[in-house]
Amino acid sequence: MLYNRLGKTNLEVSRLGFGTMRLPTKGSNDEIDEEESSKMLTYGIENGINLIDTAYPYHSATLEGRGNSEIFLGNFLNENSYRDDIILSTKSPIWAIDKKEEFDYYLDEQLKKLQTDYIDIYLLHSLTEPDWYKVKDLEVFDFLDDCLSSGKVKHVGFSSHMEVDYVIEVLDEYPKWEVVMTQMNYFDEYYQSGVMGLNYLKEVDVGSMVMEPLRGGSLVQNIPQAVQDLWNVAEVKRTPVEWALQYLWNRDDVDCVLSGMTSLQQVKQNIETASKMDEISDYDHEIIREVAREYRQTVGNKCTRCGYCMPCPHGVDIINCLTEYNIAHMLNDPKASAMQYFTLMDDDSRADSCVQCMECLPFCTQMLNIPEELEKVHEYFGSEFDHF
Ligand code: SF4
Ligand code: SF4
Repeated sequence: MLYNRLGKTNLEVSRLGFGTMRLPTKGSNDEIDEEESSKMLTYGIENGINLIDTAYPYHSATLEGRGNSEIFLGNFLNENSYRDDIILSTKSPIWAIDKKEEFDYYLDEQLKKLQTDYIDIYLLHSLTEPDWYKVKDLEVFDFLDDCLSSGKVKHVGFSSHMEVDYVIEVLDEYPKWEVVMTQMNYFDEYYQSGVMGLNYLKEVDVGSMVMEPLRGGSLVQNIPQAVQDLWNVAEVKRTPVEWALQYLWNRDDVDCVLSGMTSLQQVKQNIETASKMDEISDYDHEIIREVAREYRQTVGNKCTRCGYCMPCPHGVDIINCLTEYNIAHMLNDPKASAMQYFTLMDDDSRADSCVQCMECLPFCTQMLNIPEELEKVHEYFGSEFDHF
């Protein structure tokens, strides 16, 4: 494993961080497969991963619910005496906070769930422009000051899907920010805060944690032939996962790449990739740019499969509806995707079950108008497989 300094925290973090929002489950999202997940985390820690990231709602049964990821992680770290060996990162569910005292309420609950006295990195979760103004009104800086002085939290920051101007505004308003988590991969260089945001973090020495390195798997699954042809002409042969991860690790403004791993095999492969120096040449950078261009021409929507919009209270399988639509466009094979759409999803979870209640809208990290996207999905696939 290779390690980077996480900005002014001065923590030495493994450049691969373990995200715990997509742990294997035994069915529903809140039923973590604890045996398999424990094996994955043990392998990760024993092979050099020292940063584990979770959040209040990860693996919950409802949209705003109390997730099981923190509970599972607390048990796992306690039972295996790993707590002091790792850097633990979790997040304040700011969308659920309407009163000043609720900041403390959630932090104390999270400390209990995680069975620890301190959190190494505490982030305001998925900060948006309206949330930013809300938490400022609720005197969030006083809360953060108190967290740091009490020792309950060692370093504070925020995770964000905002545009770069907002990220800079937030950073400039509080001198104690030490870490920011943003979305980045070779497809999203100019999306959200993108490259400019990472450059700014480097300039002000704030540690960067990157999410969505594989864009929810869309950069590494169902590779279109045109993309594979581009990879084939590269000087060094790499798998799509290696391309996506090494692209990030070749950037000097990326400190830690978080991967929400779902199987032991993925953990092993990612650790192997994270453990080798693999310099990307100028020629290979050109190929990466070409691949991004190719994907941009084909993608149907910008869903990253992050799952923040799930579960839909009306049972719509938002992620898989949007994914099948994307795959159909990327591979230009509507029939194959329609087959998946109609066989893997039941009647009640397809796009036409959306009642446009709008409850999912505030949760989309990519600012998608989900009901509108679902309408497109329904228009594309229709109500029955027969017409394909
Ligand atoms: S708008 Fe549609 S997809 Fe979103 S929560 Fe409501 S029913 Fe579910
Ligand atoms: S629709 Fe938005 S919130 Fe839901 S999985 Fe896709 S990107 Fe994430």
